[in-house]
Amino acid sequence: MALPGVSRDEPRAGYDTVIIGAGVQGLAIAYELAKRGHGDVLVLDRSWPGSGASGRNGELIRSAFSSREWCDLFELSRRKWLTLSQELGVNLLFNRTGYAVVASTEEQWQQCRDDWAFQESRGIPSELLDQQQARRLLPAANPDLVRGAVIQQEAGFAHHDSVVAGYLENAARMGVHVVAGERVTGLLRAGDAVVGVETARGRRIRARIVVNASGGDALAVNELVDLSMPLVAARLEMIVTQPVRPFLTPGVAALELLGYCHQTGRGEFVGGTELPRVDATTSLNGTWTVLQDMATKFVRLFPLLAGVRLLRHWAGTVSQTPDLAPVMGPVPEIPGYLLSVGWVYGFMGAPAAGQLLAEYIATGETDPRLRPFGIERTRSGEWIREGSLVVDAELEAEEAR
Ligand SMILES: Cc1cc2nc3c(=O)[nH]c(=O)nc-3n(C[C@H](O)[C@H](O)[C@H](O)COP(=O)(O)OP(=O)(O)OC[C@H]3O[C@@H](n4cnc5c(N)ncnc54)[C@H](O)[C@@H]3O)c2cc1C
Repeated sequence: MALPGVSRDEPRAGYDTVIIGAGVQGLAIAYELAKRGHGDVLVLDRSWPGSGASGRNGELIRSAFSSREWCDLFELSRRKWLTLSQELGVNLLFNRTGYAVVASTEEQWQQCRDDWAFQESRGIPSELLDQQQARRLLPAANPDLVRGAVIQQEAGFAHHDSVVAGYLENAARMGVHVVAGERVTGLLRAGDAVVGVETARGRRIRARIVVNASGGDALAVNELVDLSMPLVAARLEMIVTQPVRPFLTPGVAALELLGYCHQTGRGEFVGGTELPRVDATTSLNGTWTVLQDMATKFVRLFPLLAGVRLLRHWAGTVSQTPDLAPVMGPVPEIPGYLLSVGWVYGFMGAPAAGQLLAEYIATGETDPRLRPFGIERTRSGEWIREGSLVVDAELEAEEAR
């Protein structure tokens, strides 16, 4: 049975916009375009909608970052998250439990204080919690790992499958054509411009705009137009445990552990950690190394998890740039080809990215919040400095080499 919103009709010969990838990014763009009366959109996915990282992520949402670029983009997104369930008419299970970035060392605590002061200066709502307050917020946490925190109250986590379904059903209701099981294998060219796509089933579909929103496969799609940019496909892994009694209210990003986690309403603990290197692969196999890393670190952070059974362990892939920020917008030398790639925090960022890219496609105007994420920085090397991420800072590693 097809997912609600997925069409059984054959794609037509042409559309205004063709989006490659029915993840949260591609579907958010499609929905926002249709909302603006630009519903002549085809979304193609080689598999089923949400089969990529959009259905495999940690579901966490915040806008309390440390750089102007990230704060501005993700604050737009966070504000959209607050009303997205009502707007889509679908319960996205957005839990406003708060999201705490937790410091364990004096250095990280200083970073939290600096980040909080910066957030305040940009009007991003967040609170600084000293050691006592942070330990009260996280009573089950190992006190040795809690030096302080920055918490954003109106943030938290949402259910990723509901979010994909919400965007999908609403986009389809407004006329967007979503086709599953159709892989894009070529891009049609007219001179330098991209003017459509070719699929594995031999279809040739013309379009004014083609959007690469193919997640971990973004590099392979870029290769179809010989576009090379500093982007790697990387694997991330997560675990979920059997339900345990409620012990954790907010979402947590633990800087010391390169880890992020939350507890669901059913009591399952959901978390993921990073190794201090990029796991460059498109494989979806979980690894023993990361499983061990996650189990060790989370038991260290929450000792009550010792002995709790795992329900699942899985992997997903993203594409990432050296500064871990997305690349969105046009490619000047390839008219008609638009990027929404390099997303490592692309679940929380989707509502804003969808809106800003749809506005660009519909009007040609680039919102100031979108501009810093253009392809130019990957060419000039003027990377965005975002210091509050819990993924490996490849940029720093690269510079240190
Ligand atoms: C373990 C893990 C934890 C994460 N935790 C968080 C988190 O807590 N918060 C957060 O904000 N983000 C998180 N992320 C990142 C987030 O999931 C991604 O940034 C986001 O889902 C990217 O969405 P997307 O639509 O760009 O890509 P995807 O969801 O990967 O979608 C891309 C789609 O493109 C399709 N596709 C690929 N190639 C082709 C082709 N040639 N033709 C047609 N279709 C194609 C794929 O089938 C796929 O469905 C996490 C990711 C992982 C893996």
